[in-house]
Amino acid sequence: MTNPIFATRILAGKTALVTGATSGIGLGIARGLASAGANLLFGGFAKPEEVAALSAEFSTFGIKAVFSGSDMSKPAEIAAMAELAVTEFGGIDILVNNAGVQHVSPVEDFPPEKWDLILAINLSSAFHLSRLLFKGMKARQWGRIINIASAHGSVASPFKSAYVAAKHGVIGLTKTLALEGAEFGITANAVSPGYVLTPLVEKQIPDTMAARGLTRDQVIRDVLLHAQPTKQFVTVEQVAAACVFLSTGAAAQINGANLAMDGGWIAQ
Ligand code: NAD
Repeated sequence: MTNPIFATRILAGKTALVTGATSGIGLGIARGLASAGANLLFGGFAKPEEVAALSAEFSTFGIKAVFSGSDMSKPAEIAAMAELAVTEFGGIDILVNNAGVQHVSPVEDFPPEKWDLILAINLSSAFHLSRLLFKGMKARQWGRIINIASAHGSVASPFKSAYVAAKHGVIGLTKTLALEGAEFGITANAVSPGYVLTPLVEKQIPDTMAARGLTRDQVIRDVLLHAQPTKQFVTVEQVAAACVFLSTGAAAQINGANLAMDGGWIAQ
């Protein structure tokens, strides 16, 4: 799937690492960056045949694409991914921390191991990859860190204690990275979608139906899109377009921002 907005290959010569790029938003971002000419180190969980199909698809953009199956909840595997970036590409110019998971439960029943897992994948993996790739960006005097946060990085919803805490943390981490990279040509920004109809959202519909005793249509209309004033899901292509723009020279002075893409949700 090509993204015609970025047919100009404005990112040719750059290399992007996108975590969680085998599904949903991360896959859309990987397609957007590849179509703009960036080489790709793409991560996530997928079957070997799915990885082969994605690698073949990304290669049609005329770029080099390498897969890493590193588990973002395990710091040693994250370090292995960063090492792969150096051996395969000599480093990373554009880091998109996107991998994320969700669990929906009242706080009194929230399993502590789910809390730990969500914090590890949704927040700590962004710290680890930033930590490991920052030195190379500094040496090249150019870098882009894009953290996929969420409207839940600014406001809360019930039953999502770990996710909301992790996403608020991601926005704080982004601001700190922005200050540390500012004089080295490195920008760090958060992109915060409202609801995007991806497998992550699909999976929480049954949990929310159970937690609140609602039908599927009621969950979509009255819970998911309740706070999204446009009453429309955000698309992965829209998020990808924002990430490509943030990766260009035109965005060099956008630093430490939290770009809300939520139809007006957090404006309320
Ligand atoms: P998704 O479930 O479609 O994709 C998640 C990706 O992360 C997959 O590629 C999966 O393999 C990968 N992943 C999960 N656990 C992993 C692990 N331990 N190690 C490595 N990779 C792992 O989800 P999505 O909806 O595309 O969400 C992507 C990001 O966007 C998440 O950070 C999510 O919080 C954020 N987000 C999503 C929405 C939405 O409505 N879908 C809204 C705001 C923010």
